[in-house]
Amino acid sequence: MKLLVATSNQGKLVELRQLLASVDVDVVGLDQLDSPPEVEEDGETFKDNAIKKALTLARFSGQLTLADDSGLCVDMLDGAPGVFSARYAGEQGDDKANNVKLVKALQHIPLNQRKAHFYCCIALAWPDGRCSTVEGQVDGLIVDQQRGTHGFGYDPLFLVPEYGKTMAELPAEIKNRISHRGRALQQLLPLIDQIV
Ligand code: IMP
Repeated sequence: MKLLVATSNQGKLVELRQLLASVDVDVVGLDQLDSPPEVEEDGETFKDNAIKKALTLARFSGQLTLADDSGLCVDMLDGAPGVFSARYAGEQGDDKANNVKLVKALQHIPLNQRKAHFYCCIALAWPDGRCSTVEGQVDGLIVDQQRGTHGFGYDPLFLVPEYGKTMAELPAEIKNRISHRGRALQQLLPLIDQIV
C-alpha cells in the first residue's frame, strides 16, 4: 500500500522514511505527484497546519497521507520561532540564516536560561476526510555555536542534555528514537500497521 508523505523538506522526508521502515508501506514523497497543490501553512498551531496539509494532499492524491508540522519553541523568546520555524529569518527553509538569527536573539543569555523544545504534530488523513493526529516533544537547550553535521534545521544548536550533544552530533538512530518526530510517529505506527 502507498503512503504519501506530504513534505518537500528533504531532511524531514529522510527521517520519516527511516521511521516508517518497520511498516509495510511504499512511502512516496510529494515529488512523485504531478503538480501537487501548495498548502499555505497559515494555521495558528502546529496541529492546524498538519491537519490542513494532510487532508489537502489526501483529497488531491486519493492516497492515505501523512503530514507533519514541527518546529522549535524557545522559552526565553516566548515560544518563538514556533510555527514560523522554517521562515524565522524571512526566507522559507533557509536553515543557515535561521540559525544565525537564533544565536543573535539569545546572545548574552546564560545557557541555563536557554530552554527550548522541538515539537511535532503528525496528521494521518484519508481521502474521505478522516484524520488522526499524534504529537511528540523533546526538551533541550540552545547553545551559542553550531555543533555537528547530522540532521537539519536547528539541530546543530539544540543541545540534548542527557547526551551532552547537539541533535546534529547524535547519529540518526538516536535522534529518531528521542526526537519530537520519532516520538510522535511511534504512536502512529500501530495504526498504520493495522490499516496496511
Ligand atoms: P515545517 O515544514 O513548517 O514543519 O517547518 C519545520 C521547521 O522547523 C524546519 O524547517 C526546521 O527549521 C524546524 N525543525 C523541525 N523539525 C526539526 C528537526 O528535527 N531538527 C531541526 N529543525 C527542525
